[in-house]
Amino acid sequence: MAKNLSFSYSKMGMYKECPQKYKFRYVHMLPEKPKYYFAFGSALHAVMEFIFNPARPQFPTLPQALDFFDSTWSKTSFEQKGYSSAEKELEGYAEGRRILESYYAKNAAHFEHPLCVETKSTLEIDGLNLISILDRMDYLGDGKIKILDYKTGKTVQREPDQLYMYQKVVENSPVIKSIVQAKDPAVKNVRVGELSFYHLPTLTEMKFERAGDKEIFNFWQNVLQIADHIRAGKFDPTPGENQCRWCDYRNLCPVFTGKDYCPSEDANSLPAPFPATPNAPQTLKKTEQDVLSENIDRLGELYTEISRLEKEIISGMEKNHFSRHFGKHFKAELTATDKVEITDTKKTVLLLQELGLLTKASAPTKTTIARLLTDDSVAADDKAKLQKLVHIVKESQLKIDPSL
Ligand code: SF4
Repeated sequence: MAKNLSFSYSKMGMYKECPQKYKFRYVHMLPEKPKYYFAFGSALHAVMEFIFNPARPQFPTLPQALDFFDSTWSKTSFEQKGYSSAEKELEGYAEGRRILESYYAKNAAHFEHPLCVETKSTLEIDGLNLISILDRMDYLGDGKIKILDYKTGKTVQREPDQLYMYQKVVENSPVIKSIVQAKDPAVKNVRVGELSFYHLPTLTEMKFERAGDKEIFNFWQNVLQIADHIRAGKFDPTPGENQCRWCDYRNLCPVFTGKDYCPSEDANSLPAPFPATPNAPQTLKKTEQDVLSENIDRLGELYTEISRLEKEIISGMEKNHFSRHFGKHFKAELTATDKVEITDTKKTVLLLQELGLLTKASAPTKTTIARLLTDDSVAADDKAKLQKLVHIVKESQLKIDPSL
């Protein structure tokens, strides 16, 4: 018997966007680059799950929710999140905290425990393993469910496929049925009573009614047709200005390279589409994986050696009070600069907000704070307050050049 095809709303969306992109991602298993908006959204989803966890008898306070957000946020670097710089990441961090504060101000007095949060359902249906994660479900009584999906992008709009997919899952999933029956044993069938998108950045809710059977039937025919195309290996690219501009697979795509992507070709002849991860190219030959691993180790060892040598040279030059010294072929120059160290980022963000300086600094990075401390347009009193939250350290910088 043929194996069920693993499917989800996001897989469907990618196939509809471009079947070739789907093939890169889910057939060749080439991961995409991290995207900051996914990292931002997942940090906020994690906090909403924390706030509304039905197992907790009491809702967390705002400081507890903010602490949870901080610890979730700090688990990954700005690169891992997909931000282009630490400054951009801090803007995201400040925006996340702002959203939580506004959310509490508007909703905390009316918090109610949901039926369940972040419910993962795998529904086996029509040859598919349909995987869905539902952000929040509330029980409306009489077997009816309200599905709530948090949105964290710039805007929110009706996404019919997502609504239909949720409805299909909720009304057919044995897992969800058992959750509802645990609450209300008399329920025979689960029905969607209401679907809702909650846009966290603007605290607005868009509500939708249950879709009619005909809409769901047509949607499902479309899902099954896409699944058939995937099984039949139909992955013709559908290039378009928007999707290709942001596509991580451009440098592998036949539309741009003029030839089919072949994973068994020498990996060194292919442009690397993204940083390697533990899940990266399953399709590489074993020997290529070995070479890749060896190169990673060699590079890591070289970095370690460079770092050790730098420290040794700086220490030797400082001890001898040299600002410049020569090898046979290279010269070393040592400069000392004042570096700002931020002692408490959260307090600094709040202080910048209070002083109305957040627009000047955009985020409390070492560079922006150093700039504010020397900015003539910033009041001396404000600088003094800022100075209490930072300390200045001397940092030696080593420059190596050919000594010609
Ligand atoms: S570059 Fe364009 S055509 Fe090629 S896979 Fe990406 S979206 Fe599809």
